[in-house]
Amino acid sequence: MPQGPKITSIEVHEFTFDVRNMAPQGRGEQAQYVKGGQSKRTNVALRFHTDQGIVGEYVNSRVTDAAAIRLIADLVIDRDALERENIYTDTKRATQQIGRLGVGLVDIVLWDIAGKFHDAPIYQLLGGHRRRLPAYASTWNGDETPGGLSSPEAFADFAEHCLELRYPAYKIHPWRDGSVQRDIDTVLAVANRVGGKMDLMWDAACKYETLADAIKVGHALDEAGYYWYEDPYKDTGMSAFGHKKLRELVKTPLLMTEFVRMLEPHVDFALAGGTDFLRADPDFDGGITGVMKIAHAGEGLGLDVEIHASNVARRHAMAAIRNSNYYEVALVHPDAGPHDAQVVLNGFGDDLAVIGADGCVPVPEGPGLGVEYDWDYILKNQTSFVEYR
Ligand SMILES: [Mg+2]
Repeated sequence: MPQGPKITSIEVHEFTFDVRNMAPQGRGEQAQYVKGGQSKRTNVALRFHTDQGIVGEYVNSRVTDAAAIRLIADLVIDRDALERENIYTDTKRATQQIGRLGVGLVDIVLWDIAGKFHDAPIYQLLGGHRRRLPAYASTWNGDETPGGLSSPEAFADFAEHCLELRYPAYKIHPWRDGSVQRDIDTVLAVANRVGGKMDLMWDAACKYETLADAIKVGHALDEAGYYWYEDPYKDTGMSAFGHKKLRELVKTPLLMTEFVRMLEPHVDFALAGGTDFLRADPDFDGGITGVMKIAHAGEGLGLDVEIHASNVARRHAMAAIRNSNYYEVALVHPDAGPHDAQVVLNGFGDDLAVIGADGCVPVPEGPGLGVEYDWDYILKNQTSFVEYR
């Protein structure tokens, strides 16, 4: 058996970029559409060096996850990069008190190394189910600026535009706060315009104050025939019992588990009857390794697993999962964005225009993640750099 490459050092680069026509709204990184506004966001670029010259890379959008690398770097350095399962188990335990942050990022870089070592794209190493992924346009939250997503009609206009671009599905993130009635009006306005022509999803991102409000919106979704109802209320997506109750009162399938972490709580949530669809995210749920575990657990239960958010790691995972419906192109807007730094050089970025005539996005065919990152941009806009060896 060939010797796997050993990790010799880990680089963590933070860098900033501006989101076009978005301005901060005083709540952390939350921004809202303002024509001419600029919202600075930070992304993280990781680079793992090995003793065989193979370099694993991954760019991700969350600095909090990368901050945890300091806790687990010494569990990764000097290890065989192909021993992903062992490293997954060790880093998972080492971060058990901090929500398993960082486990996913490490695993994704290890998959990039594995692909480069075997000279194959990750999705193929995983079993390669498909090369084109049906995708949905996933909107920014509603805003209050004319020209943006500022009314039920504006959400309907934008849905129509996405349909013209050939998106087969459209997901609405409504206003972060504000009235339940305006949300219900939006549910119905969008369905009146494009219902029957594209699948519609509603992601309240845990907005509703009470279960009763979540039920009220759920009845509108039932009436309009939505495809799924995601993270309705302010338990913040953690109560399996609460959502079992909601499932008894609302017909629209629920999509939960974006806000529980890793394989075991996903399975518990499903077995408790708290969801119809499972949600998995390579950054949050233990990398591509963790997502595949959730996908196979879902497969065994007869459930579908929808991958959260966008980037090439997510494309490779979804390409190898039979029981998954739509790739999320996030976050899109009539006049703002994109949400993440556009540092993928070979045309695998995620913006509104990424959709193909077949309503799908492609999966990279190169070795590993199969993309080249724009290191000139990353280094020029770098705000912090740490190296572990
Ligand atoms: Mg969501």
